[in-house]
Amino acid sequence: MLKGNLNCSEINKYLIRYINFDLKRSDMARVAIHLRNCPKCMEKYSVILKRKNELRKVFIEIEKKLRMQNEISSYIDNECDKESKFITEAMIICDEDYKNELNLMNLIKEKIERTKEEIINNKKTNYTQKILAKERRKKFERIKFLKKIIPLFPRLRREFAKFV
Ligand SMILES: [Zn+2]
Repeated sequence: MLKGNLNCSEINKYLIRYINFDLKRSDMARVAIHLRNCPKCMEKYSVILKRKNELRKVFIEIEKKLRMQNEISSYIDNECDKESKFITEAMIICDEDYKNELNLMNLIKEKIERTKEEIINNKKTNYTQKILAKERRKKFERIKFLKKIIPLFPRLRREFAKFV
C-alpha cells in the first residue's frame, strides 16, 4: 500500500525520526501524507508520541527536582550569591515543593548535627569515665597506704575518715 510514496514498513523506519524532526523537509511531508491516510500507522505514531511526551514529563520533573535540591542545599549551606538566595527564598514562600524540600533537608541536617554531637559527647563521656576511674584507683591506693600507716600515726585517723 503506497501512501505519500511510502509503504507502511518504510513508515515504521521513519516514525521515530519523524517525531524527533530528524528528517529532510521533503521526507517529513511524505511521512505526514502517509499518516494522514493510514489509520494503522497513525495509531502507532500516536502511541510513540504519547510515550515520548510522558517520558519528557518525567525527565522535566527529575530535572526540576535536582535543580531544586541543588538550590536549597546551597541556600542552607550559605553557598549561594545574594540574588540566588533571594530567588530561593521567594520559591520557598510560593512553592510547596520547595518548602517541603527545605524542611526535609533541615531535618537531615539537624540529624547529622545531632549525630556529630552525640559522637563528641560519647568521646567526652569516655574521657570523663577514664579520669574518674583513674581517680578511684588513686583513692583506693591512698586508702591502702593510709590503712598501712594509720596504726603508726593515730592522729591521722580523722584524716583517714575523709577518704572512706
Ligand atoms: Zn501505514
